[in-house]
Amino acid sequence: MKVTVIGSGYVGLVTGACLAQTGNHVVCLDVDAAKVAQLQAGHVPIHEPGLEAMVRANAAAGRLRFTLDAADAIGHGRILFIGVGTPPGEDGSADLQHVLAAARTIAQYLIGPAVVVNKSTVPVGTADRVKAVIEAGLAERQIDYPVAVVSNPEFLKEGAAVDDFLRPDRIVLGSEDESALQLMRTLYAPFNRNRERIQVMDARSAELTKYAANAMLATRISFMNELAALAEQVGADIEQVRRGMGSDERIGTHFLYAGAGYGGSCFPKDVRALLHTGREHGLQLGVLEAVQAANARQKRVLVQKLERRLGPLAGRTIALWGLAFKPNTDDLREAPSLVVIEELLERGASVVAYDPVAATAARAQLHDKAGITIVDDAYAALDGADALVIITEWREFRTPDFEQIRSRLRQPLIIDGRNLYEADEMAAQGLVYEGVGRPSTR
Ligand code: NAD
Repeated sequence: MKVTVIGSGYVGLVTGACLAQTGNHVVCLDVDAAKVAQLQAGHVPIHEPGLEAMVRANAAAGRLRFTLDAADAIGHGRILFIGVGTPPGEDGSADLQHVLAAARTIAQYLIGPAVVVNKSTVPVGTADRVKAVIEAGLAERQIDYPVAVVSNPEFLKEGAAVDDFLRPDRIVLGSEDESALQLMRTLYAPFNRNRERIQVMDARSAELTKYAANAMLATRISFMNELAALAEQVGADIEQVRRGMGSDERIGTHFLYAGAGYGGSCFPKDVRALLHTGREHGLQLGVLEAVQAANARQKRVLVQKLERRLGPLAGRTIALWGLAFKPNTDDLREAPSLVVIEELLERGASVVAYDPVAATAARAQLHDKAGITIVDDAYAALDGADALVIITEWREFRTPDFEQIRSRLRQPLIIDGRNLYEADEMAAQGLVYEGVGRPSTR
């Protein structure tokens, strides 16, 4: 099939590459000239395991190409995906300017009937707005191609995006247009082979499903972070509590980790957008408000732990391991590390940070901040630092050289925002250790 994908970010690029991989002819459109030039040269501008190889193979096979030329891209596809960003607006609502611009571009250059598939995370009712914008644009051109709009929210996880797209838990299709749905079933058939994964519903329910899923995941995290604070007060271990409660089938073990707070490009903005939708309809979503407040508090917990251990932080040097909002990505959007850095610098501390993948993105984002250095070696970050703070659970941090950590730090203190180690083992290594919601060394 001929497919166009508008927006070549995490979602658009993965969608384009995976659909080309199953034999479709895909053209990806973006407005970012530097990004398109990089992609045309075979370089994937984001870190996503398996993606660059897939992009190169499909480009070489002639099934995937990238363009800035809207007429070329929109003229190509019978199915047109929208995968552009929906960042938070000032009032917390999802900013739809890019989605609506994509709809206008479609209307401007469409040359025949089309199925428009929205993969961006958008508030309830956006499918209707997109359809109205396209129909108005076509009317201006005095043409009348049938256009169906399908809401097809994306559930991939950064860091495992290709795998998630190829083996999705579910494929949600929101539409009441039977022929559009039939086309989508055919397109998704290769990802729907071993069991039925396609769930058809109305567009509004599909749009709300995406927010509901992210809000539930955020709720689980904030719930556990709140219980972690209680566990510290009462002398319990949140890791043991997690295992105990998670083995109840009704609860399950996933997404119950206490830590440094959730970040990333989705949970914080989607929680805010859902709260905004509630307000627009006169509804106070109290559970979700508490989830958001608990998360804002949690992003400051590691700095509070440092202060309790070290006293005032002015003049101190703190080593940070991990900047990305989670492992296997270079994405820094709303990462807890950014709040920790901000709080440390505000208190007059210096920061030396290391991240195996997000260092380049972090240097670009933090270049104007005095007091932070980003180094390319995990252990070099420790030299002369008063403590090590772990913020992202990269695999390489799981079994580090504790002897080096102890000898290179000025004080043998680890504040672990991801509960990677056991306090008694750390004590045996001569380290002072504190996790989140767990007994510390002393
Ligand atoms: P992104 O910022 O990585 O990419 C968006 C791309 O769209 C950019 O390259 C931008 O230049 C391009 N763009 C903007 N306006 C355009 C236009 N008018 N025409 C063509 N291209 C345009 O964003 P992302 O992380 O891929 O997210 C996209 C959407 O998918 C968002 O709504 C997000 O909430 C949702 N989503 C993201 C994830 C994720 O893990 N990143 C997961 C599920 C859903």
